[in-house]
Amino acid sequence: MKQIAVIGAGTMGNGIAHVFAQHGCSVHLIDVSQPALDKALQTISKNLDRQLSKGGITEDVKNSTLQNITTFTSIAAGVAAAHLVVEAATENIGLKLKIFEELDQHAPAATILATNTSSISITRIAAATKRPGQVIGMHFMNPVPVMKLVEIINGYATTKSVTAEIVALSEQLGKVPCVVNDYPGFIANRILMPMINEAIYSLYEGVAGITEIDTVMKLGMAHPMGPLQLADFIGLDVCLSILQVLHDGFGNPKYAPCPLLVNMVTAGYLGVKSGEGFYKYSAGSKDLVVSERFAG
Ligand code: NAD
Repeated sequence: MKQIAVIGAGTMGNGIAHVFAQHGCSVHLIDVSQPALDKALQTISKNLDRQLSKGGITEDVKNSTLQNITTFTSIAAGVAAAHLVVEAATENIGLKLKIFEELDQHAPAATILATNTSSISITRIAAATKRPGQVIGMHFMNPVPVMKLVEIINGYATTKSVTAEIVALSEQLGKVPCVVNDYPGFIANRILMPMINEAIYSLYEGVAGITEIDTVMKLGMAHPMGPLQLADFIGLDVCLSILQVLHDGFGNPKYAPCPLLVNMVTAGYLGVKSGEGFYKYSAGSKDLVVSERFAG
């Protein structure tokens, strides 16, 4: 697969474009927002510089990676010759269904349509197309150039040959693919999000403070980051929406989002992206400062 289209140039889309382009694919990076495309190219260039300074890549690889990426604001033009489309647009079911209808219309009949969704049903997205056998989940982890895992999710109708192609392709990208079936949250978020929710409940019920909860999980369980810091990094709005998918999908109260999480998202305290969640973030500082809302 040489010609890849990536839909959405945000956090995940720029990383996905980066990895494919670094491995010699011609990448069409598509977003409705020109500023998002401009920012994505800057981010990719900065991340390539970091790889270069660590000796991970050569100057030639940096240049060829950047040359391999072309930006588009129209899906129709960007996917016309794609062998594979990886959709990484905003996590919203209505939006994804609309994008997949459009992809089905404009991408060649043989093109595989993958989605990087964190939690939306692959089977449901596939049903918006006339090629459900060629629709699959390709769930990269953040930051994409660094994280090895690709969770590959078979929709109900995904064919075995499509899964095999995506597994082989993920390995060619230097990733480790894990194939799972399409149930709410797949594996990564089905296990991660209840842990994060339980950490928030522990804080809400006064069992311990933020530093204590994160330290127990870091030092006791050898997690590189505590669950509250990780929730801030992922985005509290994203955590809430995935928990809602688990809660709705299984109908089990054990997935009910903690009221504290709901309040924080409603008030716009979304973690790193808004500058404050459980911790407070200021540009240029790497210190972990607990938000004063939780002091005392
Ligand atoms: P983001 O908000 O950073 O970026 C989304 C991009 O999609 C934006 O640039 C937006 O302009 C663009 N977009 C919106 N509508 C579009 C359309 N119709 N056509 C083209 N582009 C459109 O989001 P993100 O964090 O990169 O998440 C993208 C996807 O990846 C989501 O499905 C999310 O669940 C999934 N995901 C996110 C993470 C993470 O840690 N952020 C991890 C794994 C998977």
